[in-house]
Amino acid sequence: AAGIELKNVQKSFGNTEVIKGIDLNIEPGEFVVLVGPSGCGKSTLLNLISGLETLSGGDVTIGGKVVNNTPPRDRDIAMVFQSYALYPTKTVRDNITFGMQARRVPKAEQDAAVAAFSGLLQIDHLLDRKPGQLSGGQRQRVAMGRALVRDPDVFLFDEPLSNLDAKLRIDMRTEIKKLHLRLGKTVVYVTHDQIEAMTLASRIAVMDEGRIRQYGPPEEIYENP
Ligand code: ADP
Ligand code: ADP
Repeated sequence: AAGIELKNVQKSFGNTEVIKGIDLNIEPGEFVVLVGPSGCGKSTLLNLISGLETLSGGDVTIGGKVVNNTPPRDRDIAMVFQSYALYPTKTVRDNITFGMQARRVPKAEQDAAVAAFSGLLQIDHLLDRKPGQLSGGQRQRVAMGRALVRDPDVFLFDEPLSNLDAKLRIDMRTEIKKLHLRLGKTVVYVTHDQIEAMTLASRIAVMDEGRIRQYGPPEEIYENP
């Protein structure tokens, strides 16, 4: 796993400063949850780590390498979004292996990757279906499969469970926790859900108006609000 270091990270859209100089040190293998009111800059911060947005100032370091000018595909990360961003016309299998196909990874290796994760994600019976034939929870498992086969050092999640019903959210939360324990990858995870944050986080970063107001283990954050 790779650590992530943010140094005086800033982002403006036009004249509006949205991220106002954030310093944050994330250790390898940590599960950091970003919380805070809507519009405080959580998604933007995640997008600065992934490279989907460009910095207005400061430095982002992933695994000891400054990635300020590195495009997303060359960062050792995978993302899972609230909207699943699956290809509607491709099967589940092809959605998962799309990136490997583009990189001309041998078919046997693709099959092995699918086999390795489809059992874990309980989607092995769905591999020949298209996304339109899946429930929300199943689609989110496929999105996770696609992220997992990239085998990155860092996972970024932007409210991955918000579109799911309560029961499924609890199940998936447990599974994400298990996956983290098993794979030990560094995770940065945005959520509105306090229980999700407390269950998953090794440390919670509380954001407000483009700054981090508190950073610490869940016990500390929720005992001293
Ligand atoms: P959060 O994820 O905490 O809800 P966001 O990071 O999505 O917050 O947004 C932070 C602020 O930045 C909001 O005021 C939002 O309107 C603004 N913002 C986000 N993306 C853009 C953009 N592409 N252009 C202009 N403003 C943006
Ligand atoms: P590759 O695996 O060769 O990078 P992909 O097709 O998987 O190719 O990805 C194409 C682009 O989309 C890259 O910039 C990659 O970072 C991004 N991308 C696609 N899916 C994901 C994902 N699940 N997580 C992170 N990035 C992704």
